[in-house]
Amino acid sequence: MTSAKPSTLLVISAHAGDFVWRAGGAIALAAGRGERAKVVCLSFGERGESAKAWRAGRTLDEIKAIRREEAQNAAAALGAEIEFLDAGDYPLVETPELVDRLVRIYREVEPDVVLTHPLADPYNGDHPAAARMALQARVLAQAAGYDAPGEPLGAPPVFFFEPHQPEQCDFKPDVLLDITPVFDRKRKAMECLPAQQHMWDYYTDLAKRRGVQLRRNAGPNLGLPHDTMGEAYMRLYPQVTDVLA
Ligand SMILES: [Zn+2]
Repeated sequence: MTSAKPSTLLVISAHAGDFVWRAGGAIALAAGRGERAKVVCLSFGERGESAKAWRAGRTLDEIKAIRREEAQNAAAALGAEIEFLDAGDYPLVETPELVDRLVRIYREVEPDVVLTHPLADPYNGDHPAAARMALQARVLAQAAGYDAPGEPLGAPPVFFFEPHQPEQCDFKPDVLLDITPVFDRKRKAMECLPAQQHMWDYYTDLAKRRGVQLRRNAGPNLGLPHDTMGEAYMRLYPQVTDVLA
């Protein structure tokens, strides 16, 4: 697995805020290792995840501009680059053109790891739609005959990040990522999103709970105090290894 280029993380997010709540720690860790971290937002979450701005009487174009700026600030706080495809939300409509744009991003970025939404979310159809397009584009980008610039993609592992109501989305964590060293950066990124201020403490509390579970799975349960913060993920494809660990 030696490579001349540094590792690259690609995060495909339905709405402007999703990558912050669910994967901000992973993104900050990758950026902190000097890796390229790229976030693709398929929409701004302008219709479905901007209730505060609608209540304040903002127009659609104003809301998109607000959410773009917030997400840019959050990405900068995490050390990531960000691209908006402005495909619309509620509903986010799956189209061959949008999948093709994602294929071209895969071919350009050549990610070593891909993060996206789980495939089920009965509360929000945009999230599984984003996941389906992210996965379809990954498969197409692997095809030698697919007509897009760049080389055929390898087989980057795909991790689903944690949905808002995991039990309803068939989300059972099988990876717990220690984000303790970068949690302050994640919190700062969350605070770049005042449109969704109600989420800041919710996702701080979630990181504490996942941190407790991380410690329980990392060693004996001695009941000692700790400040571990975690993020939960599910792997879509099998882990490939020559040593079980
Ligand atoms: Zn969302």
